[in-house]
Amino acid sequence: MVTPARRQYLDMKAQHPDAILWFRMGDFYEMFDEDAKVAAQALHITLTGRPFGKDGRVPMAGVPYHAAHSYLARLLRQGFRVAICEQTSEAGRGLVDRAVVRVVTPGTVAEPAMLPAKENSYLAALCPGPAGYGLAYVDVTTGEFAVTEFADGDPALCRVAVENDLLRIGPRECLVPKPESPEDPEPFPHGRPQTPGHVTPYDARFFGLQTATEALQGHFGVVSLEAFGCARSPLAIRAAGAILAYLGESNAMLLPLLTGLRTYQTDGTMHLDAATRRNLELHWTGRTQTAAHSLLGTLDGTKTAMGGRLLRRILAQPLTDRAAIEERLDAVEAFVARTTLRMQTLTLLAGLGDMERLTARARQEAATPRELLALRDALHAVPTLVTLLHATDAPAFDTLAAHLDPCTSVAALITRAVLVPEGKEASRRVRPGYDADFDALVHTATHGRETIATMEAAERERTGIRSLKIKYNSVFGYGIEVSRPNLPHVPDDYRRTQTLTHAERFVTPALKEWEATILHAEERITAREDELYRGVLREIGAAAPVLLGTARAVAHVDVFCALADRAVQHRYIRPVLTDDTALQIVAGRHPVVEASLENAGDTFIPNDTILDTETHQLLLLTGPNMAGKSTYLRQVALIVLMAQVGSFVPAESARIGIVDRIFTRIGAQDDLAAGASTFLVEMMETAAILRHATPRSLIVLDEVGRGTGTDDGIAIARAVVEDLVERVRARTLFATHYHNLTEQAGHLPGVHIACAAVAEEDGEVTFLHRITPGAMGKSYGIHVARLAGLPPHVVERAWEILNHRDTEETERNTEKEILNGNGNGHSPNGDAQIAIRSVRQTALAGVPMDTEGMHGLLDDLTALDLARMTPLEAIAMLDRVQRRARLVLGTPTLARGA
Ligand code: ADP
Ligand code: MG
Repeated sequence: MVTPARRQYLDMKAQHPDAILWFRMGDFYEMFDEDAKVAAQALHITLTGRPFGKDGRVPMAGVPYHAAHSYLARLLRQGFRVAICEQTSEAGRGLVDRAVVRVVTPGTVAEPAMLPAKENSYLAALCPGPAGYGLAYVDVTTGEFAVTEFADGDPALCRVAVENDLLRIGPRECLVPKPESPEDPEPFPHGRPQTPGHVTPYDARFFGLQTATEALQGHFGVVSLEAFGCARSPLAIRAAGAILAYLGESNAMLLPLLTGLRTYQTDGTMHLDAATRRNLELHWTGRTQTAAHSLLGTLDGTKTAMGGRLLRRILAQPLTDRAAIEERLDAVEAFVARTTLRMQTLTLLAGLGDMERLTARARQEAATPRELLALRDALHAVPTLVTLLHATDAPAFDTLAAHLDPCTSVAALITRAVLVPEGKEASRRVRPGYDADFDALVHTATHGRETIATMEAAERERTGIRSLKIKYNSVFGYGIEVSRPNLPHVPDDYRRTQTLTHAERFVTPALKEWEATILHAEERITAREDELYRGVLREIGAAAPVLLGTARAVAHVDVFCALADRAVQHRYIRPVLTDDTALQIVAGRHPVVEASLENAGDTFIPNDTILDTETHQLLLLTGPNMAGKSTYLRQVALIVLMAQVGSFVPAESARIGIVDRIFTRIGAQDDLAAGASTFLVEMMETAAILRHATPRSLIVLDEVGRGTGTDDGIAIARAVVEDLVERVRARTLFATHYHNLTEQAGHLPGVHIACAAVAEEDGEVTFLHRITPGAMGKSYGIHVARLAGLPPHVVERAWEILNHRDTEETERNTEKEILNGNGNGHSPNGDAQIAIRSVRQTALAGVPMDTEGMHGLLDDLTALDLARMTPLEAIAMLDRVQRRARLVLGTPTLARGA
């Protein structure tokens, strides 16, 4: 036998098996059993127990009602769903009624307090089909509802495209159809795309075409989806329908927000795959786990939450349409050119509320008076903004200004109708003067209370009881309180209502009458106020499309102005975009590295870049570790990306033939978390690049082949380079620490060689961070090892091994080259012939002079502290020095004593 409360809990839990059930008990939401254990761990709260009749003690954990929001937000962030069960009857004797009032899921929570302001909060739905995928998403805080379909061509390519788009959107929750039974056909015939955010399998019925079409038509009150542009995209419709159904079930309050559906194409935008997004650190830095050192962190000078969200979105989706890019650049340039305007705009924007979310709150009829007044204040700023923009002669602002509708009627309505509750008026939301009926009711109530107040004085007078008081109590209403000693003086018309310890309470017919008047008026005040306030919210909700249009225009102004501000601050220039495939950057810089170097008082060394699809197709970059190769590669990719986002770029000049995709494979990061070996991941990403790149793409490869042995590594790297120049023909930057690769691939047509220069003086290397044409003969790895503090004897031993191996390898390689006979037409490039001949000559001449080794040797000799050496140490040292000297000079090692 379980207790009734336990029975009630178990019934409820059975209806919500996939959610954590929050069971309201007084001032706490309690969780039991498995839920309690999971939540205790996720929230770092104490796991206790509670006796439940014969069930014995069950695990329990609770969160206080008043702090529920923050705990809820934490659970949602970790991908949990929470079913909130409230008490629905007054606490009294026996079991309290309870009901689940809402199931909160990561993608359907819209309360501003639980969400970061500068990020959108998307719920997505993914619908697989025979030939591809449909994708729909909605921002539940703003009502942005969009849909698209990836069903053209190879399903495998569609999958990549949908994955990239999902990454761009970054939904908090993504719905996928749940197979109804195990016998059902596999819901994802081409494999389920990887989704960021929490994946929620959802009843497949709601993904049905018929059901979805009807749901959408019903919601928008239309007979065809033609107007939304998706009538002929069944997969898109099915995904959108599922979203609608899911919102209806989990948070129907949000449905009115969805006022339209936008069908989008991913054609005019640049696809960025997962590896590229991660490698370029657009929004987030893996190393520091923050946004601070990301591109967004460096560029985000936006002043409003709307602007912040827009910037985040556009960084994830650079454009490929030149006219569209130029339009953005024009606006940024207009702000760059006008310092005063920029300052005034930034100041104006700084105080602005989140018009998008505030409008959405009004539309949900959830906005508080404070929120409405914030919306009004934002609207009040709009005309000033329009005036500022109009005062310039910049055509770039015309479209923006045209969309900045100040919605004067909405602002005026809020001013007229809404009262901020303060102090005594804590419960009032409607302003006096807005509605005559309401004012009359308020007057009646106030007058009643005043009359009662005067009655107190009159009754004191009449009875002579100086301590007589009229008091109010929520159960008994008004009463005249007379203390015990004064009871004999109570007049006949007093009727006793209540007995207290030291006093008794009475009423008079007149008091009763006034009380009735007041209560009646109060009741009607509440009802009328509700009605009026709701009416105001509805009226604002009806204006939502215009309000959101204004909000979006403000967001754009904010983004352009902020980009301009950063451009001035960091000395960025306007890039020139072209339709060819050239890429010419003069004195380019890495925006993020530069900013952090500047913070530390250092300067960034700029570098040039020339790439095209004819003579400079692939740059093979060598150089020691820490010389700046990776920085250079990323910098080129970031400059292109920034340009196509519509931002100015860190360079002296930049001419950019528009890129359709940027591919990167950078560094040998550990992807162990994703469950794949680094090398496997590296190869998978390289494979994807070779398969998907076009001659309009930009490819950045950093240390490909590093994850395996040297011989394999070089072989793979070389094969990749060959394929890139011979077949793919995309502009490519390829960094490698295999300097032999330059010998092997440098002769290919279109391949250029450069190195990240180092200066060497007295055996010390300095990284110049300057990219210079030509190959680098060696890797300086041991120098770096020494800089890093490897013990001197280990460094010294490394030199020994290296020099020995180098000698052997040169001999072997040269032999191979000779045997292969490079005159067989394999290499038409004259430079390479010379390079190979020179290798052959040095080999034939016998000894390659190792200046590196020599310097090292002399270095170490000068560094010796003879005074502190024992004779034995000195002899051992001398022996080592001699052996090294022989290695350096290439003299065969003599057997000891020979
Ligand atoms: P590599 O890939 O060659 O090992 P990185 O690109 O990682 O080298 O650069 C190593 C460090 O050198 C960077 O963290 C940065 O601080 C510095 N650096 C790189 N490029 C520059 C530059 N152009 N100017 C100034 N410092 C730079
Ligand atoms: Mg590197």
